[in-house]
Amino acid sequence: MSKASRPRTAVERRERLQQFLDALDQRYPNVTCALHHNDAWQLLVATILSAQCTDERVNKVTPELFRKYPTIQDFAAVSQDELARDIHSTGFFNNKAKSIIGAAQKILNEFGGEIPREIDQLLTVPGAARKTANVVLGTAFGIASGVVVDTHVSRISQRLDLTKETTPEKIERDLVRILPRERWIQFAHQIIHFGRELCVARKPKCAECPVEALCYAKDKSPL
Ligand code: SF4
Repeated sequence: MSKASRPRTAVERRERLQQFLDALDQRYPNVTCALHHNDAWQLLVATILSAQCTDERVNKVTPELFRKYPTIQDFAAVSQDELARDIHSTGFFNNKAKSIIGAAQKILNEFGGEIPREIDQLLTVPGAARKTANVVLGTAFGIASGVVVDTHVSRISQRLDLTKETTPEKIERDLVRILPRERWIQFAHQIIHFGRELCVARKPKCAECPVEALCYAKDKSPL
């Protein structure tokens, strides 16, 4: 186990965070969202489909889905049963189909067919909870509306002691407080890659970790 110690002052905490961000930049300089998409609408659909499902599985389903339904109007007009069959392999297909159809209808009826760029408006769209809204605004439009908090961001923010919170909303509140705004979008992309590659949930690969010297997590793997 490493001898990394807790920072004691605000300055030490800031320096440690900066070292962590620098290490992420070095290891993951150009990472982005793994969900394939051509525009904001497709990213919204893919993100809704990714709930409780891997990005790889979603990326297998979406090419045919977007061929069959090339426009938002096509999604607004399809029956829930038919769409549920098309997205069956992503799991929770009835709820996801309902959300996607509801999102398409809302965007057509209330936003002129354009994905809203204000988070408060986007949050009114079916299926667009806070995480999804941050994904779409950050990745499709480059708008830093918040920090995407998924399972990787939650776990690693806790391990790196960037938060003591356990709910996504409160974790995000802590992260937007300590991270510079220009890092909000990229931070989540980098952490998601880091969480898949090294800081995995069980038996993290601490011996290969570029920030091992900064980490005093209780569940570190023995070196
Ligand atoms: S991989 Fe290990 S050392 Fe690195 S951040 Fe995760 S728990 Fe800490």
